[in-house]
Amino acid sequence: ALSDNLQYVSDSIRVVPGFPKKGIMFQDITTLTRNPKAFKLCIEAFVERYKDQKIDVIAGVEARGFIFGPPLALALGVGFVPLRKPGKLPGETIGAEYQLEYGTDRIEMTVESITNGQNVLIIDDLVATGGTLGAAVQLVEKVGAKVHEAACVIELPELQGRAKLKATNVPLFVLLEKE
Ligand code: AMP
Repeated sequence: ALSDNLQYVSDSIRVVPGFPKKGIMFQDITTLTRNPKAFKLCIEAFVERYKDQKIDVIAGVEARGFIFGPPLALALGVGFVPLRKPGKLPGETIGAEYQLEYGTDRIEMTVESITNGQNVLIIDDLVATGGTLGAAVQLVEKVGAKVHEAACVIELPELQGRAKLKATNVPLFVLLEKE
């Protein structure tokens, strides 16, 4: 059973059936972030887990990893690095591709933004198939850093993202599981 605090966070998330297309149960975290109590409890739950874990940097996945990553980075006193959609970052970048239902997608990282040996926490709002987090792990490992863990607010266990991530040997931590 969830703690009262996590139950409150869970209840703050609006579910929108059929968005952005038929068959998807869209987990709308904007109803969480506009509720200051829910947003605070959510970030505090991550802080509690990571405050003594010697995290050097937080890497957040565009776009909703940019919402949860920075407040956590500030609370931990570490930097925030954005993992972005293609063509958005200046300077030298590296990329990793991942499969979508139809076609592929790609995320990119500024090469010197994470250095060899750093202990990195990857964050996003939600893990579904795990494709996005898998690509994020690849990027961070390409520059010789260690991925401490991947963290999400929500897991959709039916889509088996946890099994996919297991192949990378990176642990997955989530606050909430949803149908
Ligand atoms: P995946 O790569 O399949 O694990 O999908 C995760 C990414 O897609 C995350 O960045 C989520 O923001 C987004 N996503 C996938 N499914 C949903 C959903 N049901 N509700 C909200 N966002 C979703």
